[in-house]
Amino acid sequence: MNPWPTGEPPEARLRAALAADRPLLHDHPRLRALLESSAVADPGEFFLLFLHHCMATGAALDQGAAEEDVADLASGRWAGAALLAELGHANSNSRTHTEAVFDPATREFVLSTPVPGAAKYPATFGPAGLATLAVVSARLLIGGTEHGTALFLVPVRDERGPCPGVSIEPCPPTALLPLDYATVRFDGVRVPYRRWLRDGASITPDGEFHDPLADAGARGRRTMSMGRFGWGAITVGLAAVARASVSLALDRAGRRRTLDRLAGEIPAIDHLNQQRLLFGALASALAATTLARRETGRYWSFGAPPGVHRELGLTKVAVTALADRAVNRARSASGTAGFFSEHRLIGYQGLTLAFQSAGGDNRLIALDAAWTMAAGQEYTPPADAPGADEWVTLFRHRERLLHEELATGLDGSFDTWNARSELALRFVSAHSARRTAEVVSGELPSDLYELHCLEEVEAHAGWFLAHGLLTADQVLGLPDRINALCRCLHQDPTPLDRLLCR
Ligand SMILES: Cc1cc2nc3c(=O)[nH]c(=O)nc-3n(C[C@H](O)[C@H](O)[C@H](O)COP(=O)(O)OP(=O)(O)OC[C@H]3O[C@@H](n4cnc5c(N)ncnc54)[C@H](O)[C@@H]3O)c2cc1C
Repeated sequence: MNPWPTGEPPEARLRAALAADRPLLHDHPRLRALLESSAVADPGEFFLLFLHHCMATGAALDQGAAEEDVADLASGRWAGAALLAELGHANSNSRTHTEAVFDPATREFVLSTPVPGAAKYPATFGPAGLATLAVVSARLLIGGTEHGTALFLVPVRDERGPCPGVSIEPCPPTALLPLDYATVRFDGVRVPYRRWLRDGASITPDGEFHDPLADAGARGRRTMSMGRFGWGAITVGLAAVARASVSLALDRAGRRRTLDRLAGEIPAIDHLNQQRLLFGALASALAATTLARRETGRYWSFGAPPGVHRELGLTKVAVTALADRAVNRARSASGTAGFFSEHRLIGYQGLTLAFQSAGGDNRLIALDAAWTMAAGQEYTPPADAPGADEWVTLFRHRERLLHEELATGLDGSFDTWNARSELALRFVSAHSARRTAEVVSGELPSDLYELHCLEEVEAHAGWFLAHGLLTADQVLGLPDRINALCRCLHQDPTPLDRLLCR
């Protein structure tokens, strides 16, 4: 039973989890273990650790924070937060309105919220009394000229409350993932030069700006590349709650007695519909785990190039979808227990739902990726791979055809692109399905791999049929193939526990 079904995590435990002898991004196994166990024990605590150890500390380390600030974050003296999204605009990270104006007299920056829509929202904080050092995104203005969106480390509240010039307005309580959410405004907050995460840029004593990057656009992209530290946390955390959900639901289905009109009293898991839900969920959870762990090193490395950033974003999207599906199926198979917080599953679902938007909106990540891939930027549609199995071959074919459909006739107009936005999402999902199959084949037991692929094909059976890639008999035979696999998995369930303990 979850000892913290609602409300905030116990503060002492949280404080211990925030503190370390050095930034945990330098110790991947330890950071991963901490994030996985906190996601399973308490999704709210996990969210705060994701902000602290990955978003705030990651940006600080990667983009040139002073050593004492990094040390203060690592020691837990300050809890880290990230104030990036703004209230007034969708897709707000692409055009930040918060301002940081350089004051040449004091060599400080003056941080302000110039219009109501520039308020940072939502800001996620730990419990009151926790001093918070936030990474804040703001337009850098020097002598009236803008130099793109930059990051600043800003103390936003100490043990007594908001710091001078910072207004923190709490949001109403929310049902899923209940934490201290707030709207934050800045009114002339003075930020010292050393707390500009300048990442190699500088301002001379004469007020001249130098940046090794080409222009404000490149600076903005570099600034937002900090998201990958968070994606590393999100993917391992969501994969962990997906495994935990399947484990809880499988255990329950094995013990829960049902009364069947034909078979009499039998455990729930003897019903084929439960097997389909739960073995499919198991395959999704293990695929999410494989994808997440494969990329952890790249998420948490410093200075990754932009092409990699796109694939890392798409892995965040793919893992969120796989984990969400696993948790949803585990809840669906568990009846009432899937609803009440004491059984944990609904809390896990809160986490998988939150990260469809938090850490970067999944739809937007997918659409951005589709845009660059349609333009052929660092992307070539996959050719047939000699020796690939039937699934990978099918998925490569689908990706190729969807890419062709998406890219043909694009004329640079909004109307043409807008009319294809669903197609763009379908293409990205086909790309992810192909990549996932390539990555997990050989990693998952063969029957779970096949189940995963069969379910992916079944979801698009009409499309495969329409394109002559499957025959009518093959499509009609899909449910029987899936059922046969489920029966096999049910007959020998012993290895499943071992798989879930990974
Ligand atoms: C639980 C939770 C906690 C959060 N905590 C924080 C936090 O601590 N700090 C922080 O900075 N942020 C936080 N966020 C905000 C999160 O990072 C943002 O929600 C996310 O970046 C998306 O922004 P948005 O909600 O404003 O969505 P919007 O940008 O309003 O997007 C809404 C929809 O419009 C679509 N859309 C937008 N623009 C386009 C476009 N150009 N083309 C096509 N479609 C488009 C999107 O795909 C999306 O589906 C949190 C969010 C959640 C859910």
